[in-house]
Amino acid sequence: MNVNIQIIAYLLAGVLFIRSLGGLSKQETARSGNIFGMAGMTLAGVVTAIAWTQRGAGSTATGILGGAILGGSLIGAVLAKRVEMTGMPELVAILHSFVGLAAVLVGISSYVTPTVAHAPGADPASIEHTVHLVEVWVGVAVGAITFTGSIIAFGKLRGSISGKPLLLPGRHAINALMAIAIVGLAVPFMRMESPAALPYLLAMTGVAGVLGAHLVMAIGGADMPVVVSLLNSYSGWAAAAAGFMLGNDLLIVTGALVGSSGTILSIIMCRAMNRSILNVIFGGFGTGDAKGPVAPTAAQGEVHELKSDEVAQRLLGSKQVVIVPGYGMAVARAQNSVRELTTALRDKGVKVRFAIHPVAGRLPGHMNVLLAEAGVPYDIVMEMEHINQDFPQTDVVLVVGSNDIVNPSALDDPQSPIYGMPVLEVWKSKLVVVLKRGMAAGYAGVDNPLFFHENCSMLFGDAKKSMDALVQAVRAQGADKAA
Ligand code: NDP
Repeated sequence: MNVNIQIIAYLLAGVLFIRSLGGLSKQETARSGNIFGMAGMTLAGVVTAIAWTQRGAGSTATGILGGAILGGSLIGAVLAKRVEMTGMPELVAILHSFVGLAAVLVGISSYVTPTVAHAPGADPASIEHTVHLVEVWVGVAVGAITFTGSIIAFGKLRGSISGKPLLLPGRHAINALMAIAIVGLAVPFMRMESPAALPYLLAMTGVAGVLGAHLVMAIGGADMPVVVSLLNSYSGWAAAAAGFMLGNDLLIVTGALVGSSGTILSIIMCRAMNRSILNVIFGGFGTGDAKGPVAPTAAQGEVHELKSDEVAQRLLGSKQVVIVPGYGMAVARAQNSVRELTTALRDKGVKVRFAIHPVAGRLPGHMNVLLAEAGVPYDIVMEMEHINQDFPQTDVVLVVGSNDIVNPSALDDPQSPIYGMPVLEVWKSKLVVVLKRGMAAGYAGVDNPLFFHENCSMLFGDAKKSMDALVQAVRAQGADKAA
């Protein structure tokens, strides 16, 4: 293949990847975003394979490449088809571990395989040689951290490793020592003639692997979504480093896109939880070891309770209703019942909308995905910044298994561990009804004064059961009115 055609094809694939990221930023365009990504990946794979075979790869090597591409695509397609929406973070975590492992293998093989910049006996003082060794070292280090960190994240999300943070005494010092070892081992590696310094490279790979595992072991299970997003970013940087090692521009561009988008997503998630990225990375949230719920302010007062018939009556008498879904809706798998209630109310002329907090649930976009799966129309699903000003005009807000994201102390109690976190200001509406099983705290472990507000009532029970009861009551009362 003409080298110019290859460059144009890579450029086109890069553009398709950028279109893909743009598409994935909105629910309505997510499907086309996926298609752009798949098209870009197919183009990149085909062009690379053709260029590689034309460079004189034998038929055995071509057969191995074809088999690997076909086998990998098949396994990927079956896994993606089978995975449940709730298992998506696990799948993403394990896929990141493959990227990390690939970066380690590419780094080691590019070190032991002679190239022009890096032939046995190449002048160790030459710039090309030094640059190549730095690329190998950085790529392998980031790859090894990503590989083991992602495997631990996968285990924690699956529940095969305890979600509790592992807080070894002096863990920050242990991490610092490992980081120093990674940098220190580079000195003899850079000075020795290749490939004689391979033992140093392998030793560093081991240390970086332990560092990755230790860092993620120290982070609680509930923070895994942020960790997965961070590891996503690391896997991108590892891929970019592999691109430099292989002299492949497309891999550099793609790696940088993944690396930077992963970093941006991690920062957005941390901001929405009012926590710094370092607070998440160094773990211990909720254990008193980091900024956490050390002394929750005990919210007190009278708790009001309503039964489903009474809530249904208030709903049917409303003009505007807002539903705030949270983690409890996901646990109870109540999204289909929520959609049924929405349809029943809309049929009676009630305006129903959804208010989505950026970190509602346990993974980014958790609620959007569940609602989309249940068939809730996109145009009534609103982001926090677009709906917060509408609560004073809202008749009833149904809080379905949410807690921290509707906690007023985030705005008015400087002592609260979640002070400063942006929240949905549901208490400004005429009536708030909270569907949850009891008075338990949410993820942050803090009490919620909302539950004692004059205009707030609890509808106790599992969210799915309460929702089903509400749907029945709304339908029965709606039919009575019509008759
Ligand atoms: P919360 O964890 O604050 O609250 C969930 C509530 O759901 C609980 O108080 C619980 O109360 C209730 N619940 C649990 N099971 C059921 C059930 N079967 N039926 C009814 N209710 C149930 O969730 P939010 O969505 O409000 O907030 C998300 C939290 O997670 C935030 O603190 C956020 O920072 C954090 N987080 C989010 C991430 C993300 O990417 N989205 C990532 C990491 C952390 P009860 O037991 O009384 O029923």
